[in-house]
Amino acid sequence: MLDNSKEIVTKSLQALRDDPTFLPELEGEAREKAFTSLASIISTPNHVHKSYLRVRLEDNRVERIPSFRVQHNNMLGPYKGGIRYHESVEESEVEDLASLMTLKNALHEVPFGGAKGGVVIDPADFSDKELYAISKKYVQYFSEILGPEKDIPAPDVGTSEREMDWMMGEYKSIHPGQRYRESFTGKSVMNGGSLGRREATGRGVYFTLRYLLHDFVKDNKDWLGERKSKYAKTALEHQDKNLSVAIQGFGNVGSVAALEAYRCDYLNNKVVAVSDKNVTLYNPDGIDIPNLIRFTSTNHNNLPITEDEVKEANIKADIHNRDELLEVECDVLIFAALGGQVHKGNMKKIKAKILVEGANAPVTEEADEYLNEQGAIILPDLLANAGGVIVSYLEWLQGRETQFLEEEEVFQELTTKMEKTFDTVYPQYFDNHHSLRENCFIHSVMKLSTIIYRQGKLY
Ligand code: GLU
Repeated sequence: MLDNSKEIVTKSLQALRDDPTFLPELEGEAREKAFTSLASIISTPNHVHKSYLRVRLEDNRVERIPSFRVQHNNMLGPYKGGIRYHESVEESEVEDLASLMTLKNALHEVPFGGAKGGVVIDPADFSDKELYAISKKYVQYFSEILGPEKDIPAPDVGTSEREMDWMMGEYKSIHPGQRYRESFTGKSVMNGGSLGRREATGRGVYFTLRYLLHDFVKDNKDWLGERKSKYAKTALEHQDKNLSVAIQGFGNVGSVAALEAYRCDYLNNKVVAVSDKNVTLYNPDGIDIPNLIRFTSTNHNNLPITEDEVKEANIKADIHNRDELLEVECDVLIFAALGGQVHKGNMKKIKAKILVEGANAPVTEEADEYLNEQGAIILPDLLANAGGVIVSYLEWLQGRETQFLEEEEVFQELTTKMEKTFDTVYPQYFDNHHSLRENCFIHSVMKLSTIIYRQGKLY
């Protein structure tokens, strides 16, 4: 699904190889060899662990459930990344997602490497008791490779603080007397989690958009006006506009991003459409997000699917097919569901000119290229959805020090870190011919390559 991550690493290295200011001590043939080695190191995971979890289900059947933990790279610190429960999980996708984590952490200077886990199940097919058994088994099978200084999982699609609490509990039983609070992040606050972790990804996603249009563009209007690029034009066209926002996915990331958009005073925007796995709700005048969240929180996180349910939710919206969300008339499209959503088959139907990747890899390579050509600004996953792992780092630190931050302090730290990254990548993006995704990849690959080289790993 993430067909572009290996290629984009190679492209980034190509750009760096041709940049004489990058590792200038490497010249001629030595430079060629070093870059070939870097390409192979960065695009290959260190370890791919696979197990078939043996789980007894409530009807007493024993099932073998395929599960993975891919440890991509730990040059920058312990491996770090979520565990996904989804029926579409497959090995090569988990590998790609793990490499994305390495690059995401490098981009935002989070001192972790990259990893990803996956369990091939549809959680809706299992009872809570069975999910508890599966989560415990995952930790038992991978117990030797996990740990606060080795590899620290977190929630991802299909998992939440409930699974992290279960898993930390199991980790603690397997490793008595050892440090355990930092073995998993994204736990509940009662169980050593961080205030604000649950909202961190969604808030970070929206903040990326807000920072681009409110802070960066407003502060740099003249400078941007001098840039003749199509991206500068798109940014300037959107900064004062009444923005209509559509959001794909209404889970932990989508609903929080929607609420941020609804409440935001910095941008003049309204949420005109939201979708989940069943339905799209559309209202060009804007949807009442707090009322909608009140409804979904007592409806197994599902959006209303009938006229009666829409009434019950106390919102006004028309009901459409799930996939229609992507084609809705809007300025901004936020992705907060799965990967591979915009592809060759539907890329020409996208109306939004600003796309924000709250999910991992929602835009395929072909679609990315096409939309960039059209002057669309795509805020890539690497940049936009890092809020989760940034606050995971804060949670890890708090667990280590047993000193806990207030929610406001957490968001302050989160936005400070993200601002620092934006201030590096946005000016460069508007000043050169690379897409924002390429620009972010080049940054991460540069950091990673420097560390690999300086630690003597090319000898
Ligand atoms: N699963 C999230 C991501 O893809 C969070 C990872 C973490 O906190 O370690 O970024």
